Amino acid sequence: MGLSRRQALLSAAALPLAATLPRAARAKAEKQGMSVPSFSRFALGDFEVTTLLAGTRPVENPHDIFGLNVSAEEFAAASDAAFLPTDVAQFFFTPTLVNTGAALILFDTGLNPEGITAALAAAGHTPDEVDTVVITHMHGDHIGGLMGEAGATFANAAYVTGAVEHNHWMGAGNETFDAKVRPLNDRFSFLDDGGAVAPGISANLAPGHTPGHMAYRIESGGKSLMLIADAANHPVWSLAHPDWEVKFDADKAQAAATRRSLLGMIAADRLPFIGYHMPFPATGFIETAGDGFRYVPTAYQLMLG
Ligand SMILES: [Zn+2]
Repeated sequence: MGLSRRQALLSAAALPLAATLPRAARAKAEKQGMSVPSFSRFALGDFEVTTLLAGTRPVENPHDIFGLNVSAEEFAAASDAAFLPTDVAQFFFTPTLVNTGAALILFDTGLNPEGITAALAAAGHTPDEVDTVVITHMHGDHIGGLMGEAGATFANAAYVTGAVEHNHWMGAGNETFDAKVRPLNDRFSFLDDGGAVAPGISANLAPGHTPGHMAYRIESGGKSLMLIADAANHPVWSLAHPDWEVKFDADKAQAAATRRSLLGMIAADRLPFIGYHMPFPATGFIETAGDGFRYVPTAYQLMLG
């Protein structure tokens, strides 16, 4: 649908600015829909680190999940101060891939094989290339990509997880664990606090979210970052308010204590960190602020190597 030549001429006369447009009756462009990035890659010393967006979705009524021990008024005030709505939140699921040069190591696997496979493909990798899959803890949004109808997603991988975590879920009668992890048990090896996945990659026990939840320190060429997994799951409701109770934290007091010590260390050492549920690309810094912390999303620091 376009203007007639006469209408176009009249419009151009009435609105001189329109005369500067290349054509008056240009076809309108199709809207392309909201853009969703799928990977973000940077160098860390001699390592290459890629955050992979394996899934994202809006979730209604986030106060049903975050801040269980605070009033609706307090939740609303803290959210409003951070320019966040209270009726809905956007959730992100971000596994991390580390290419050490000697091995391709994937931390967590998203909700299903399709999500992680698509993000890997966008980043130029296939599931078959993954040498090691590290599972930070055994919740469904971290182990969901391990197995599908086609069997194991990562055909050539060895698997690593925390010993405490695996022991816990072995006796838990959990359907997701039994479907996604138990069939791979023979290919798992187990770490304790401080254990190494590979040179430069070591486990930090960070319990509370689950009994054996692990964070990881990744170090290469004098550079370090912390992969905190689910020790803090929201940039405001967890970081600014570390004592706010979270529905998915199995031991709420222990999870809060872990948040305070882990986030405090990251802030004191001024380290970059990756949070599995932070807004994509899921990378940031942490500063202490009041009685909690402030999330500082990365600008261009990680692009500088
Ligand atoms: Zn999670």
